[in-house]
Amino acid sequence: AKAGGRNNFQFFTEEMNQTVQERLVLEGDLRVAIERGEFLLHYQPQIEMSTGRVIGVEALLRWQHPVHGLVTPDRFIPVAEETGMIVAIGEVALKTACRQLAAWLAAGLPPLRVSVNLSARQFKQDNLPALLQDVLRETGIESHLLELEITESSAMENPADAILHLRGFREMGVELAIDDFGTGYSSLSYLKLFPVHRLKIDRSFVKDIDTDTDDAEIAAATIALAHTLGKEVVAEGVETEAQCRFLQGQRCDILQGYYFSRPLPPEEIVPYLRNNAVP
Ligand code: C2E
Ligand code: CA
Ligand code: CA
Ligand code: CA
Repeated sequence: AKAGGRNNFQFFTEEMNQTVQERLVLEGDLRVAIERGEFLLHYQPQIEMSTGRVIGVEALLRWQHPVHGLVTPDRFIPVAEETGMIVAIGEVALKTACRQLAAWLAAGLPPLRVSVNLSARQFKQDNLPALLQDVLRETGIESHLLELEITESSAMENPADAILHLRGFREMGVELAIDDFGTGYSSLSYLKLFPVHRLKIDRSFVKDIDTDTDDAEIAAATIALAHTLGKEVVAEGVETEAQCRFLQGQRCDILQGYYFSRPLPPEEIVPYLRNNAVP
């Protein structure tokens, strides 16, 4: 047993070294990626329940890695967060999304909203309001066509500060959504105080919404509560017609998920928008 234990220990340290090694490589690659501009956005349509039309798109980061190809955010956002590189990457995402929207509008696409994810770290940056002003001025898009998504857990890190930040953004005319709602333990009293336009019900509640009565009740209660507070509800991760029907029955306002479309690269989202956007 002892010998085995030692072997296990050696194996374990080798594995740890490999993990540390991989992590260092990833960090280095990320730094280079920022310099070389290897980030791009895919866009996932958001469908307005009452009309069936696309009223907006969520911008989702992708990394075009020179060796590994297209990398999704779960592979690099955690490290980007820890190292602070997310601030630079997030700035690229914000600028790219707003420039893309300006280009779509210039090309004659009907007005639609673009939603950009903000990391907890970005949300707390003192220069974020100035950055937003710059981006809006540079691109000339109307501020209400930009939506910022802040996760419930980042809003709840320091709710009092979050309320102040959110108020500032709201005064600029930018729209706001609480992302991953239901996973971050906000109390009902905070929900009332967060000056946001929408809540996004987390995918984990939507997944079994048509079969699990707990999830169904949580979703139904969230939608009712949001409406009482004058907020809209977006359901994310809608994959099936049954989920769609349930959410329709609960008067959910906006739907997003593979059932309608996966996140699409810019060249594929344009034809989709031409066919489905609000006229
Ligand atoms: P999120 O903000 O909750 O985004 C939704 C994620 O669910 C996206 O994953 C999307 O592709 C995926 N999704 C959409 N519909 C469905 C569906 O019907 N079924 C399933 N199974 N998944 C669906 P993605 O693009 O891999 O992004 C993952 C996370 O990375 C995002 O979760 C967000 O937290 C983060 N992220 C993405 N872009 C940015 C960004 O620009 N800045 C920051 N800070 N975070 C970002
Ligand atoms: Ca999001
Ligand atoms: Ca989400
Ligand atoms: Ca989520």
